[in-house]
Amino acid sequence: MRQNDKNFNVFIIESEKELMWNRAKNWMGLGKHSEYVKNYYGDANIRASVYMSVVVIILETWMILRTLIKYVILSDESRDFHWIITHFYSYCLLLAGGVVMLVFAVRYLKGKTENRLTGLVLIILLSAICLWFGMYISSVSYATGGQILTFLTMEIFVCTLLVWRPYISFLLLSGTFIAFYSMALKARGEFLEGDLINYFCYFIAALMVSFSFYHQRMKEATKAESLEAMNKHLEKIAVEDDITGIKNMNYFVEKTGELLKQEAERLSEKIFLYLDIENFKSYNDQYGFERGCDFLIQVAKKIDTVFADSVVTRQSDDHFLVYTERAGARERIETIRNYVRNYQDEVNLGLKVGGYIPVSGEIDPRLAGDKARYACGLIKKMYDKDYKEYDEQVDEKFHKKQYIVNTIDKAVENGYIKVFYQPVVWSKDGELCGCEALARWIDPKYGFLSPGDFIPVLEEQRQIHKLDTCIFETVCRDIRENLDAGNKVVPVSLNFSRLDFELMDAVGILDGFVQKYNISKDYLHVEVTESALVDDLGVLDRAINSLREKGYAIWLDDFGSGYSSLNSLKDYSFDVMKIDMKFLANFNQNDKSGIIIDSIINMAGKIGMRTLAEGVETEEQSEFLLSIGCERLQGYLYGKPMKIEELKEKIAAGEYHISDVVL
Ligand code: C2E
Ligand code: MG
Ligand code: MG
Repeated sequence: MRQNDKNFNVFIIESEKELMWNRAKNWMGLGKHSEYVKNYYGDANIRASVYMSVVVIILETWMILRTLIKYVILSDESRDFHWIITHFYSYCLLLAGGVVMLVFAVRYLKGKTENRLTGLVLIILLSAICLWFGMYISSVSYATGGQILTFLTMEIFVCTLLVWRPYISFLLLSGTFIAFYSMALKARGEFLEGDLINYFCYFIAALMVSFSFYHQRMKEATKAESLEAMNKHLEKIAVEDDITGIKNMNYFVEKTGELLKQEAERLSEKIFLYLDIENFKSYNDQYGFERGCDFLIQVAKKIDTVFADSVVTRQSDDHFLVYTERAGARERIETIRNYVRNYQDEVNLGLKVGGYIPVSGEIDPRLAGDKARYACGLIKKMYDKDYKEYDEQVDEKFHKKQYIVNTIDKAVENGYIKVFYQPVVWSKDGELCGCEALARWIDPKYGFLSPGDFIPVLEEQRQIHKLDTCIFETVCRDIRENLDAGNKVVPVSLNFSRLDFELMDAVGILDGFVQKYNISKDYLHVEVTESALVDDLGVLDRAINSLREKGYAIWLDDFGSGYSSLNSLKDYSFDVMKIDMKFLANFNQNDKSGIIIDSIINMAGKIGMRTLAEGVETEEQSEFLLSIGCERLQGYLYGKPMKIEELKEKIAAGEYHISDVVL
């Protein structure tokens, strides 16, 4: 313990010593300067040398004129010829030095030369001339009983106007003060005691002032350096993508915006490309976040290199945007695609690309990028296609999509959104045991829109909750009206989007309608599509539990349509499994379909789930499903989705018989 204390003290003492030594070094200006600080001092000295040389030029011109007029023209005989010549030459030398220095400094400051070293040499030369001049003139003067002011003026001039490192100031001042002391002593034979005291005080004062100048400037320089570093950093992050280091979307929008204007005449030769790495998500899942990021960085660099003469950005996630020349673009894409495929191991990687050729008058890079993205989205799950260009047909779809996004609020408000009901029957007797509520959009401009047109768009744009809220309320209201009319009512299943649970308090909202219309929860089934469960979101988990606690039946929609069907069975519990219609799609041609459906129904029974088959279109399918114990059936064989009025009419006409057992 003691030993440790001792060691600790030694360590402290040593580091304190080091600290003090470093402080002393810095105080004397012996520390290392960063490149920025060096340049800062160099520039400041060259700027100061302008004043220095102007003062020298004015002074020496005045002295030359004075000497010429007084001693040559007016023939003042108070000075001998030797005095006049030596002084005249000194003045001329200083004047020449001042002029050269001034010319250089002005050229440097105007940016006509960048040679800072020459500047430094000139400053040293001019300073040396000044000091030599001061010493010479004052020693001559002191010898004849005069003063030493010229020397002192030159000292202060050289040491305070320019900023030297303290140890240089010290050497310069000590050297010149000692040199002048011996020169003056030799010239006059004595150095008066009073003069010597003042002389020494002057030396100390000049030294301190030059030290203080240095440290003051050092503070300014380091402050300016950190400000500049901060600015550079800010400039960099303002235009740089934080993950990949290539340019970010802000830069892309600004730069491409300028180019669209500059290249307005030849926009047909340009193209916006949207690059989407296929299966990047699986790569991330398989190899982890860090490797995923690294892969993204490498691909970004590759795109940046292959399109070095173009504008490239990472738009989001694994999506990149490029604005480039049309000529040769496809070949470049191919290079990138091959690069991406090289990373392929257990995960199947690919590259989907959408292209959009800007039209004349195009000014919005974001919209152009969106169009390229839209074209790319159209080939998303098409394994035989990896490039799609935005054409007239796509344009129509794109505008429809824009329209849907922009009109959803109005559509809800104005009643364009309708609920169609599709019957669900018991397999054993064909009696009606429920309905599925399916959204339809009857639009004044586009006419009849099916969910395939608007559901994916609303989900992508995170607006789906608006539609679902409308459907939930309409269904609850319809049930209430039916009950009020004294009709027999069957439960209705509602389709929930995964995003409903993220974008709104879906459970609370549904509960609100149930209370508002005072209906039993037994009349509602919540359908959660299997693909919603792929992303393991805590939100979804909590919502499903809460719905269950509140007493709603939860149905698993489209079972078997995704990749992790069995996982969803393991992780969540559902009341009813809706078997995806794709199992029945080629029921006649494929012997295996029946075996698979049979096994699914068997398994569902074992884990306590009831079953419903979707997409039943033929009697043969219906009989088969009954034979293997599938409880509920839904499909065109029993009726397409229809308006509530039509359903009521059919019930009234006896086409559907409502079962006494509906749960
Ligand atoms: P889903 O929930 O699986 O709905 C069943 C779909 O299959 C419906 O298509 C229905 O018309 C169709 N269908 C039913 N029987 C047959 C058949 O025998 N043969 C064929 N070929 N098709 C049949 P729809 O109405 O176009 O809905 C498509 C999907 O859109 C729905 O699939 C559901 O996921 C979604 N959806 C529909 N309405 C809503 C809604 O209000 N909210 C949300 N979030 N999604 C909805
Ligand atoms: Mg459904
Ligand atoms: Mg379904």
